Amino acid sequence: MKPDFHGKVAIVTGAGSGIGAAVSRQLAQEGAEVVVADLDAEAARCRAAEISAQGGRAHDFAVDVTDAAAVEKLIEFTVQKCGGLDLAVNNAGIDGVRKATADYPLDNWHQLINVNLNGVFYSMKYEIAAMLDRGGGAIVNMSSILGSVGLPTASAYTAAKHGVVGLTKVAAIEYARVGIRINVVGPGWIETPLLSEQVEALATRRMAALQPMGRRGKPEEVAALVCFLLSDQASFITGSYHLVDGAYTAH
Ligand code: NAP
Repeated sequence: MKPDFHGKVAIVTGAGSGIGAAVSRQLAQEGAEVVVADLDAEAARCRAAEISAQGGRAHDFAVDVTDAAAVEKLIEFTVQKCGGLDLAVNNAGIDGVRKATADYPLDNWHQLINVNLNGVFYSMKYEIAAMLDRGGGAIVNMSSILGSVGLPTASAYTAAKHGVVGLTKVAAIEYARVGIRINVVGPGWIETPLLSEQVEALATRRMAALQPMGRRGKPEEVAALVCFLLSDQASFITGSYHLVDGAYTAH
């Protein structure tokens, strides 16, 4: 049975590209009205136009998730435009520079924590308030395999993604009795533009040894898990961390 999101309103951050774009498309295909939010205004506009052209309902919104006031405006826009908020996917993220911990530049550290951790906190803060007004909802936060294991030279990314797992668990417990489910997803290496060429080359070299399935995942394979967790089929699933990693973390 497929998830059914008819009558539901969803926000997806980082929806202009990669995993966020795939999640937005699938949510719209299953009936949701989707607010496609991204730092890249043009990418958000294009993704929303694509969804509309395929018969779905979508609106674009330019947002920088490191700006709490801008995130609050995104939620206000959604409630005013669509009448409320039921579903949210806090997916916006960056890869960041790769340096050993002692060499990690402070400004890069702060930027990465701002996008990948603070951005998720700001989003949840305002989304939960809107969902309380609606009487319930479901949220999926985007972590990574690096929310579970470490990767040398990725201290900021790994710390942020572990932080997203912890943040998810706390909020899930806090809102479990008021009908808001909150889960976190940990993708392995996925085919998107996120990774720099340098990391891409490293990923390809390491693939055979580290990824038992011997290939990278597709954004649609992450979107399928996200949409299941947002759906009523996952009605007893909250506060948990779900890997979609082709067994990367299994060995
Ligand atoms: P992507 O294709 O680069 O998409 C990320 C989107 O987020 C981009 O459109 C980007 O816009 C946007 N974004 C960046 N900073 C933002 C900000 N401050 N405010 C709003 N939007 C912002 O990357 P992806 O691979 O789909 O990644 C999506 C999520 O999955 C991220 O959280 C990432 O950490 C996680 N993830 C990815 C992988 C992987 O292998 N791809 C693995 C594990 C986890 P710009 O293009 O303008 O920067």
